[in-house]
Amino acid sequence: MTIELETSSVQQTMAVAAAIAPHLRPGDVLALRGDLGAGKTSFVRGLATGLGLDAGAVSSPTFVICQLYEGATVTLAHADAYRLASEDEIETIGWEELLESPEVIVAVEWADRIPGSIPPETIDIAMEHGGDDRRRISISMPGDQASRQERIAAGIAAALQPRECPSCGTPVDVSAASFPFCSPRCRMADLGQWFKGAYTIGRPIADDLDD
Ligand code: ADP
Ligand code: MG
Repeated sequence: MTIELETSSVQQTMAVAAAIAPHLRPGDVLALRGDLGAGKTSFVRGLATGLGLDAGAVSSPTFVICQLYEGATVTLAHADAYRLASEDEIETIGWEELLESPEVIVAVEWADRIPGSIPPETIDIAMEHGGDDRRRISISMPGDQASRQERIAAGIAAALQPRECPSCGTPVDVSAASFPFCSPRCRMADLGQWFKGAYTIGRPIADDLDD
């Protein structure tokens, strides 16, 4: 069971990953495969965003092998097998414990370098360069998860759909520099609404001051 798609910007790749995040649960392992620059780290950044974690903290963990991003309900373990001298070395980060830990989702870059350490129930994410900013992404769910795969495919399709500009209603792609607005001008127009008081705050701010 495989979902095949192509993205044409790093923002789209992150949006795809963020759309998968709500369908993940602790104990899930995502194995990311693909050449340097294929977008594995960007994908993990999108996952972190979708899980409500600090995506700004996500960098390539190549030199530290594994980084943990801890949230209130879930922890994302971001591992990178690129610089392991041998597969056994993955144990130096307590790999088995990570896999068994009840609140951790594991995403591992260069998973193909540690084939013997990837559990059979892993979600496989293969990424390939498709020229310029295009990337082909194949997402394979482990067997027996047809309904989850359908929900993920629907979530991805929705995430890649252009959104309506909140100011003028024109469809805007997630890659637009001014996203979710279609243009800097529409973003400014929206800001103008704020200043005019067209947006209201549901609860008087003074309530907070009394506490
Ligand atoms: P990896 O971890 O696989 O080496 P990174 O995510 O670190 O890859 O880097 C991917 C690079 O490719 C980034 O500079 C990103 O901006 C760029 N890029 C261009 N188009 C895409 C795309 N469609 N998806 C992901 N990254 C893209
Ligand atoms: Mg990387």
